[in-house]
Parts: sequence; structure tokens; C-alpha cells
Amino acid sequence: MAVENNDIPPDLWEECSSCHQLLYSKQLANEQWVCPRCGYHLRLTVWQRLAITADDGSFEEWDADLPLVDPLEFPDYRPKVEQARAKTQMSEAVLTGWAALEQMPFGLGIMDLDFIGGSMGWVVGERITRLMERCIEQRLPVVIFCASGGARMQESLISLMQMPKTSAAAGKLRQAGLPYISVITHPTYGGVAASYTFLGDIIIAEPQAAVGFAGPRVVEVTGLEIRPGVQSAEFQYKHGMIDLIVNRQDMHRTLEALLAWFDGTRRVSAATGRNGRPALVGEIDE
Ligand SMILES: [Zn+2]
Repeated sequence: MAVENNDIPPDLWEECSSCHQLLYSKQLANEQWVCPRCGYHLRLTVWQRLAITADDGSFEEWDADLPLVDPLEFPDYRPKVEQARAKTQMSEAVLTGWAALEQMPFGLGIMDLDFIGGSMGWVVGERITRLMERCIEQRLPVVIFCASGGARMQESLISLMQMPKTSAAAGKLRQAGLPYISVITHPTYGGVAASYTFLGDIIIAEPQAAVGFAGPRVVEVTGLEIRPGVQSAEFQYKHGMIDLIVNRQDMHRTLEALLAWFDGTRRVSAATGRNGRPALVGEIDE
């Protein structure tokens, strides 16, 4: 492109982080933020992910008001959270709630890498746990889009305790016979990868998503030697740890097929049912 970078209005064009091609934002949105030149999956905000996943207007947030836990009174932690909130329009690093996909109801979680690296502290662990527990009560399948740098170091041990807690919740979901679909997006590392990410009944990844236990910073600090490519979705797929690698543009129809396979008869209607939620078909006349 012959134009100088600083002549371009920032909202009109975006640069592909992989091939550095300048891309027209509107076209990129139509392509669901997959680079039409090289196929790289650009990072989505939670709100963009929600828009391409759930039926319009179907989402209802759960557990929005959980308080921040700061047991160590870690220096600058609270201001950092406030900054992340302003930047992302999120209250924490995961959004959870009720949603419908092609009228099929499910519990949805979407993680935000831009919120303190998508790190898991008490609120993230608690929201994931409550999401699974509510889905057991309401007999709903669960879909979680994972993205994380790992545990939130500002919350120390409390952060690490979220790993067994969320893993136990995933176990209860399995015992209740309810499906859990985990979707790995770039990158998913550390405590999140080592807990609910790999406990899905079906584990899907976006192409080229980095996934593993030791994130780049841990590798750098500890001097760990990890063979290049091992912590990638493709390697994990090849070795049986991931069930499907799905292009983002095929994700909606893949989730639709899976949810329909689990319980396609359970579609919601446009009418409002009990508790203000959209009614399940067959529930309307009760
Ligand atoms: Zn590209």
C-alpha cells in the first residue's frame, strides 16, 4: 500500500498481525476477523465473539457483580483492574451467562485476553464454576471460549485454588450428563489450560492457537526448553488432545451441529417464559 501509515484513519484499517497486510475494517468484520490474505485469526474482543456466536439479543449475563478479591493488597492491583475495565468494557476476564444459538439454549463463557492477560483470579474461577452449576440446575450444555495467560499472580494461592474448583465443577457437569464444549483460542496457557480447558467433552481449537502449560514469559524466566510447535493446536490435535480444529468462519455451524446432536429438540421460542428467560418450546403453555 502506497499510503503512509499515519495518513490512515485508525478505525478504517487494521493490520494483520501475521502477514502485516492492511485490511479494510468492514471487510475484516465480514470475514469474522480472519485475514483474507493469510488466514490468520485476529484477536476478537469478547463482544465481537459474542456477536458471531449467540443469537442476536439472546445473551443474559450471570454473576456480573462478584467483588474483586485482593488478599495480599498487591501493589497497583486495583488500579490495574480499573484500567482493564476501561479498556475492555468488561468487569472481569470472563463473561458468562445464558445464550441461544439458532434457538438452542446453552451456558456461555468467553474469556478476554485483554483483561490482565485473561488471567484467572477468584472472579474468573467463580464465574466459570457458577456457570457450570447453573447449567446443571437448568439442564443446559456449556460452551466456553478459552484464552488466557494463566493464573493471576496478584491473587497468589487464591488464584491457584481456582484450578481444582473449576475442574470439580466440570466433573459435576459430566456426572450430570451434560455436554461441555471447550473452544481453545489463541493463546491459552497456564492454570486455565491445566484446568477446565482440557476437561471439555469435545475440545475444539481455532487454527494456530497456542496452547500449553508454560506461556512465553514462564519459558523465558525459567529457561525451559520446549520444542518449537509443541504448544500449538495442530500438535495437540495430532496427538489426540484436541478433537477438532475449526476455522472461525465454520465455528457457528460446528457448534450448531454439536448442540443439535446433543439435544436439538430443545429449541427456545421467541415468547418469554418463566424467570424472564426465553421459553423452551413446550414450556410456553405451562
Ligand atoms: Zn494476514
